[in-house]
Amino acid sequence: MNRTSPAYVRKCLAELGVRPSRRLGQNFLIDGNVGRAIVDAANVDRKDVVLEIGPGLGALTDELLARCGRVIAVEKDRRLQAYLASSFAAISGFELIGGDMLDQDLTQFSDAGVARVVSNLPYASGTRILVEIVKSTFVPVGMVLTLQREVAERLCAAVGGRDYGLLSVWVQRLYRPRIERKVSATCFWPAPEVTSSVVVLERDCGAVEVADEGAFYRLTSAAFAHRRKQLRAILPLIKVSTREKGEGLLVAEGIDPRARPQNLSVADWCRLANALC
Ligand code: SAM
Repeated sequence: MNRTSPAYVRKCLAELGVRPSRRLGQNFLIDGNVGRAIVDAANVDRKDVVLEIGPGLGALTDELLARCGRVIAVEKDRRLQAYLASSFAAISGFELIGGDMLDQDLTQFSDAGVARVVSNLPYASGTRILVEIVKSTFVPVGMVLTLQREVAERLCAAVGGRDYGLLSVWVQRLYRPRIERKVSATCFWPAPEVTSSVVVLERDCGAVEVADEGAFYRLTSAAFAHRRKQLRAILPLIKVSTREKGEGLLVAEGIDPRARPQNLSVADWCRLANALC
């Protein structure tokens, strides 16, 4: 059985009575070379426990199970859950969690020893799923994610650039992201209206420690909501300091008070959050 053949995907979905849902980002991979390239980029071996989000009809699951010890797959669609349960029942190392990834207690994945996440993420909720992971205590050593190209560019954006924002700061505090390859819409059925990119995220342990993560997330969220303003105006506006104290603090941290949020590196944000604690 070739799970990425367009004929197989269409036939399977028809038999299951699944009309691909836009809300669930149901665009199924129909290019085996792309699937293999994604799993290659994940660099998994037999010792690894991998989390796959949204396995769908198992296009990546098959390839993952051939290379790693255990795959924990979270699928929201009940009809696909039934298909996956019967299709992979005989394969040891496969575990299915039926439910919404956004409802999962992420500590279960750290407890299960998940080191890597691999997913063709649903477009509709992909960014939210990634943010939930990044903000949690579950910190996999590596992730390979297919995302909408624009989102991938935001993740990887360099400080000062047009795409550099909250997502870049939050992700790059913990990971070194790079775009592995673009994936054209024709590699999926049905073809989405957007182009995708495969992003590889490798854990980066060299980042500045943050004393209070809640304070870091509150500061960065509030500051980027005023991304056109200067930091010296933003700090009093978001009530984390007075204008005079804020300016002194920024200077002490080596940050130009006239800088705007997109001009601060990830390390600057971490030091600033620590100084304001
Ligand atoms: N991995 C398959 C592939 O590459 O062909 C399917 C990828 S498709 C882009 C996204 C998959 O995620 C679908 O199977 C969809 O049902 C599932 N999904 C959507 N939202 C989800 C959520 N919140 N939690 C878990 N699975 C979800």
